[in-house]
Amino acid sequence: MLESTKAIPWKIDWATMRFAYIGPQIETLLGWTQDSWQTVDDWVTRMHPEDRDYVVNFCVSQSQAGVDHEADYRAMTRDGGYVWIRDVVHVVRHENGEVDCLIGFMFDISERKRAEDELLRLHRELEQLSLTDGLTGIANRRMFDQRLETEWADARRSGKPVSLVVLDIDHFKQFNDAHGHVAGDECLRRVAEALRDVVQRPRDVVARFGGEEFILLLPETDAAAARELAAQCVERLTALRIVHGGQGAGDYVTASLGVGTVQVAGACTARAFVEAVDGRLYAAKRGGRNRVEVL
Ligand code: GH3
Ligand code: MG
Ligand code: MG
Repeated sequence: MLESTKAIPWKIDWATMRFAYIGPQIETLLGWTQDSWQTVDDWVTRMHPEDRDYVVNFCVSQSQAGVDHEADYRAMTRDGGYVWIRDVVHVVRHENGEVDCLIGFMFDISERKRAEDELLRLHRELEQLSLTDGLTGIANRRMFDQRLETEWADARRSGKPVSLVVLDIDHFKQFNDAHGHVAGDECLRRVAEALRDVVQRPRDVVARFGGEEFILLLPETDAAAARELAAQCVERLTALRIVHGGQGAGDYVTASLGVGTVQVAGACTARAFVEAVDGRLYAAKRGGRNRVEVL
């Protein structure tokens, strides 16, 4: 029965760390002959280098503690390939509690791993196609680009001004260093929420432009109104009073902003406009941060 099942049974003597048994099916699966499995080292060396440390440490510590366990890893085949294995291990103990031997089954789980990888790939693809930012729930860059294109064409026709506000959190790397990434993520969520409260009109877009950079697309908005909205962004952010205190930063989280307004005409491109406003943001950074620079 042991030799006809698809799962591969094995037994290791704890005292000698040698295989007392391994099913002949191992040769079909991995190509290594049954009698080439002599010691635990044969098992260790025929494991993917990336899995080795973790799996060996885990299995040894579980076995020493006398706890049944299982581990997934890539086993090396004789021709240099890898097969995903799930090893399910039962620890057999003497009456005095000491470990006698380990017995287990190896299962070929490559099919299942392939399905998991495929799912992961699809998930990433879906993320790519999606229009909202996973962390903050506001528009992502892709959505921003699409809306900008539409609004750009519209502004060209109507002759009405379009404005942009770009906002980049100051010293955010230090924020992460001081408070951790989870707090950093939470900070980004709160900033996004505050910015969302600033815009009122249905065609306005608040997007996460990059890591800690946000952008407001404001159709039919003139320079004075854009400056006012930028001031409100600063006000809302200040009101959050998110404690910073990291190296080089002030007590609370601040941001630098660039603002610009354009009347679309001639060869003027949306991309050039975004770059110009972004340039003002960097001027605000150079000028000492926590300020607004207008194009
Ligand atoms: P500056 O004032 O010049 O803007 O400095 P900065 O530290 O804010 O800018 P820098 O570009 O050096 O670093 C940005 C940091 O933002 C680095 C990165 O770890 C962090 N960051 C980007 N995206 C995320 C995110 O999704 N979550 C968290 N927690 N941190 C992020
Ligand atoms: Mg920054
Ligand atoms: Mg940045």
